[in-house]
Amino acid sequence: MSQSVCILGATGSIGQSTLKVLDRHPEKYSIFALSAYSRIEELGEICKQYQPKVVVVPFDKVDQLQKVFKEKNLKNIEILTDKEGLITVAKHPEVDVVMAAIVGAAGLLPTLAAVHAGKRVLLANKEALVMSGDIMMQAAQKSGALLLPVDSEHNAIFQCLPQNYLQIETNQEPQLGVSQILLTASGGPFLNHSSDQLKHVTPAQACKHPNWSMGRKISVDSATLMNKGLELIEACHLFSIKEHFVTVVVHPQSIIHSMVQYIDGSTLAQMGNPDMCTPIAHALAWPERIETHVPPLDLFALHRLDFQAPDTDRFPALTLARQAMQSGGLAPAILNASNEIAVEAFLNEQIGFMDIPAVSDFVLNEIANSSADTLDMILDIDRQARQSAQHRIMQLSK
Ligand code: NAD
Ligand code: MG
Repeated sequence: MSQSVCILGATGSIGQSTLKVLDRHPEKYSIFALSAYSRIEELGEICKQYQPKVVVVPFDKVDQLQKVFKEKNLKNIEILTDKEGLITVAKHPEVDVVMAAIVGAAGLLPTLAAVHAGKRVLLANKEALVMSGDIMMQAAQKSGALLLPVDSEHNAIFQCLPQNYLQIETNQEPQLGVSQILLTASGGPFLNHSSDQLKHVTPAQACKHPNWSMGRKISVDSATLMNKGLELIEACHLFSIKEHFVTVVVHPQSIIHSMVQYIDGSTLAQMGNPDMCTPIAHALAWPERIETHVPPLDLFALHRLDFQAPDTDRFPALTLARQAMQSGGLAPAILNASNEIAVEAFLNEQIGFMDIPAVSDFVLNEIANSSADTLDMILDIDRQARQSAQHRIMQLSK
C-alpha cells in the first residue's frame, strides 16, 4: 500500500530533497499536503507536478496562490492557512508520514501535532526538538509516533546504534554496550579563519558551505557551529543520553556523518557522499531501504579523511549549547530563540558574525531559567528571549 506524505516546508532545501527522493518511488508514496511560507510561484510549480490534496500558506499569500493555480489550471487543491492549517495537515487522518522541514521555532507546533497524532515523523526541524525536548519525546512515547532523525549526523548515529535502541527504556546513560557518540562537524566555511578574520565575515560568505547546499539560517548556524550545538542537544533528546556522552569531532570532508563507540573498543561509522537524500530515504523507508540517485562513495578518489577537535575559543556557540543542555529546563529554548533572532540580524547586516553567539550569551544570562514543564512555558520563554535578543541587537548596532 502506498504511504501518504505531508511535507511541511516543501519549498526549502530539505523539502526539495524529499521530493527528489519521492520522485523515484511513485508506487510507494503519494503526496497529500505541502506547505510553503514564501516562493508561491515555486509552490505552484510543485503543485502542478505532484497534485497534492491540500496546501498550506500564510493567509496573506492566498490571493497570490489562487492566481497561480488559475494560471496553471490547477483545481481541487484545498488551501489552508497559517499555524492552524499546518497543524491540521500534520495530524490529518489521511497522512501516514510527516516530513518536518520548516526552519526554526515556526515548526514546533505542527511537528508536535504530528507526534501527538502518532505519525511517522521525519525530523529535519531540529529547533522544534531543541525547544521542546522531553515534551516531544514523551509525546512520541505516548502516541507511538516514530520520530526518525533526518539530520545527517543523527541519522548516521541511528544507523550505528543497536537495532532496538530507540525502543528501550533509557536513563540518560548509554545502553546495550554503547559508550560514546561521536558527532561529526564539517567546521563550516570559516574553519581556518582567525578570530580577527571572523569579525569581518559577510552573510554571503557564511551562506557558502563547503560541502552542503542548505537554507540560509542553517548555513549561518553551521558557520558559527551553533548548528553543532543544537545538534548536540538534539542527540541528547533523541538518544536519551547526557551531554558528556557526546563528543564533537571536526571532520572537514563530511564523509563520515557520525559514529558510535562501544565498550568492546568498536567504533561504527556511517559514511556516504554528503547529500541529504540519503538520510531522507533512510528515514522514509526504515527499516527497509530504498534507492536514491546518490552515487556510492569512491574511496580511491577521496584519499584521506581528517579529524580535529573543535576550537571553542573561536566558536563559543558550541560551549553555550553544551552549557544550556547541562542547565536543562528552558535554557535550550532560550538559546534557540536568541540565536534565531541574532542570525536574522546578521543576515540583515545589523550585527557582526561574532555578535551572534554574544547575543545568545547575553540573553541566557539575562533570562532566569526554570524547568520546562509545559508547552506554554516554552512558548512564553521563546517570546521573552526574542525580545531580549532584539533589545541587545539594538544596543550592539548603535
Ligand atoms: P530552508 O530555509 O531552505 O526552507 C525552510 C522551509 O520552511 C521553506 O519551505 C519555508 O517556506 C518554510 N518556512 C520558513 N519560515 C516559515 C514560517 N515562519 N512558517 C512556516 N513555514 C516557514 O531551510 P532548510 O535548509 O530546508 O532547513 C529546514 C530544517 O531542516 C531546519 O530546521 C534545518 O536546521 C534542518 N536541516 C536542514 C539541512 C539541510 O541540508 N538543508 C540538514 C539538516 C537539518
Ligand atoms: Mg546536521
